[in-house]
Parts: sequence; C-alpha cells; structure tokens
Amino acid sequence: MADTVGFIGLGIMGKPMAKNLMDAGHELVVFNRTREKAEELAGDGATVAGSPREVAERSDVVITMLPDSPQVEEVLTGEDGVLEGIKEGALVVDMSTISPVVTEGLAAKVKEKGASMLDAPVSGGDVGAIEGTLSIMVGGSEGDFERARPLFEAMGKTVTHVGGNGTGQVVKAANQIVVALTIEAVSEALVLGSKGGVAPEKILDVLSGGLAGNKVMEVKREKMLTHSFDPGFRIELHHKDLGIALVAGREYGVTLPVTALVDQMLQELRMRGRGDRDHSALLTLIEDSSGHEIGS
Ligand code: NAD
Repeated sequence: MADTVGFIGLGIMGKPMAKNLMDAGHELVVFNRTREKAEELAGDGATVAGSPREVAERSDVVITMLPDSPQVEEVLTGEDGVLEGIKEGALVVDMSTISPVVTEGLAAKVKEKGASMLDAPVSGGDVGAIEGTLSIMVGGSEGDFERARPLFEAMGKTVTHVGGNGTGQVVKAANQIVVALTIEAVSEALVLGSKGGVAPEKILDVLSGGLAGNKVMEVKREKMLTHSFDPGFRIELHHKDLGIALVAGREYGVTLPVTALVDQMLQELRMRGRGDRDHSALLTLIEDSSGHEIGS
C-alpha cells in the first residue's frame, strides 16, 4: 500500500505543494496552525488533523513546510509535536529553508525514535510550487531519498540528492547567497549607469550579452525597471536566509564578508518598512543612498 503522507505548514508554498501531491494520487493528512488553511484542502479530499502529533500517528511520511528553524523545532519536538506520535520506520521530510545546523540536530532526534529524516529545501518560488516545477535539494540517506522520490517528483522538476543530513540546507544557503549578492550587484550597476545618463533597459540589454549576464537581469527585469515590487520572494524571508548562511559560515569556519554586508542592507530595508516587498527592491536602497531613481 502507498505511504500516507502528512503535510504540516500550508502557506504560500505548502498549500500548492500539498495539492500537487493529492493530484498525483497520494493520500494526505494535513495540519496548519491556522486551521482554516487546512480546512481548504479538506474539500479536495485531505484529512485534517488536530495537531502535528496526530499527523505523525496517521502518516508514514511527514512533510513540513514552515517559515524558519524555531517553527520546525516546535512542530517536531514541541508538545503534541511530530516526535510524540511518529511511527517506527517513518520518514520526516523538512522542505522549509532552515539552518543546516538545526537540521542535523533534528535528524538525530528523529533517529532516536526509530525513524529517519531528509532535509529538502526548494527553490522556484510560489510559481514553481503551483506548477510543480520546484528545484529540490535533498540531504539524507540514499535509501530515504529513493523512498521520497515519487513525492518529490509530484512537486518538483529538478530533484537532486546532494549528500547526508543538512547538506540540502547547505546548498540552499549557497543558492541564497548568490541570488542576494547578484541582485545587489545588478542594483549598483543600474543606478551607476542610469545616473551616468544611460537608459536602464539599455544597461540590462548590453550586460546580458556578456560575462555579466545572469538570470536576475532576466527574471527581475520588469520589477526593477518599473519599480513594481509586489512579491515574489519577500525581503524578510531572504534576510532570514542570509542569517542562516552567516550562522553556518560561523559554524563551519568560513568567511562570508559580502554576504554579511548584503544581510545588513536587507536589515535596513526591513527597518525602512520594506520587508514585505520583493527582494529585487534592494535596488531602492542604492537609489536612496545615491539620490537617484533609475530611469528618472
Ligand atoms: P508562509 O508563511 O506562507 O507559510 C508558512 C505556513 O506555516 C503558514 O501557513 C503558517 O500558518 C504555518 N505555520 C507557522 N508556524 C506553524 C506552526 N508552529 N505549526 C503549524 N503551522 C505553522 O511561508 P512560505 O512562503 O510558504 O515559505 C515556507 C518556507 O519555504 C520558508 O522556509 C521559506 O523560506 C521557503 N521558501 C519560500 C519561497 C517563496 O517564494 N515563498 C521559495 C523557496 C523557499
């Protein structure tokens, strides 16, 4: 018989991911802190549980898609949490973006219960979650990865096993560094070029053709040129992710000097009330400090 799948955390990402699992024929038991979000999936055939513990009692595989490390720790190890109800031989798959260090600790606690854990953070945003085209980077044992592969394939397109517990989160942190620092570099280039008298779209056209070309210039082009910063991926979430990268750098003894700088820029944007804007709004910080809005 196919595994019954528990799903905890039905937000922007979790809800469409859970829906794609049901569309692929998996039986789902769901829980969310705000119960209405779980009830919405009941209409599609999901069973709504009263606690993470109940989800674990009724499932063979438990997936979590929560904001950050404290929430994943609470849902797994807290009162009425997953570990209180988990079956022997069950699999926990955390798809949230959290600290690799916290993940390693949680994997050890899951193991003490005779179960196992994968960290499987994603990239591809809400569109990738809805369309089932996420990139999924997975840390844990090969056997657990193979067991979860059909579930990953219902939610994503590029599914990669990258190593042992925690390594999925390490790769995700590396991804978030490159994306944030690229947005920052594109922002500086745009403001310098524009204040120097060049049309911003021309700057992107020319740079895209050479070594400077990158996906941020393509995917965030419209948002940056028109200053329409509805998310997308929110500044506050990217700030959280650079925090994760910096803590991991400290733990592993790696210097991340420019990541630290961009982390502070995202912090400033949050303090200026722009935490809910798309991360491409990093542009506005360079514009503010340069006294110039691109294209003006
Ligand atoms: P979200 O805030 O929309 O969803 C989180 C959900 O978890 C909410 O429904 C919330 O009610 C629920 N929740 C919070 N605490 C809970 C608890 N203690 N018990 C049960 N439910 C609880 O966030 P999201 O955008 O769906 O992101 C989820 C994760 O995916 C984050 O780690 C984020 O960094 C990552 N991520 C997001 C995106 C994106 O584009 N939004 C892209 C890639 C990765």
